[in-house]
Amino acid sequence: MRDPKCIFCNFTDKSVIVFEDSECFGLISKAPLNKYHVILIPLEHFTDTQDLPDDLLGHLYATAKKLGKAVRSASGAQGITTIHDDGIQKTQDHFTLHIIPRFSNEKIGGLFVREENVGITIRARYAREIRDALKAVN
Ligand SMILES: [Zn+2]
Repeated sequence: MRDPKCIFCNFTDKSVIVFEDSECFGLISKAPLNKYHVILIPLEHFTDTQDLPDDLLGHLYATAKKLGKAVRSASGAQGITTIHDDGIQKTQDHFTLHIIPRFSNEKIGGLFVREENVGITIRARYAREIRDALKAVN
């Protein structure tokens, strides 16, 4: 079920979408923890991991695996951090799975310093690059 007041249940900006299927979609974050930060979002409104059906949770992580490869390819990152928040530290009341590129020159603990919002043009470019990289991911 969708929540009419939820930003992710009503998301329409296709320019920053990197992936979509019948169960979820991924977009470039506008409050990124690093460049090319992708947020993977189920189409239906669930709040926490405990609310998600197991098959949907499995689908989200399988999709995150595929997107992680594309994000690494597009961004040149050496690694990926995949995280989600339950209960606290959430800016939206809709479950999200974050795929965040990691670079070898980063300091440990530096992940949670937010990047500047680079704006819609750069976010759309990142989305295009990841969509292109995704075509090469099995
Ligand atoms: Zn929602």
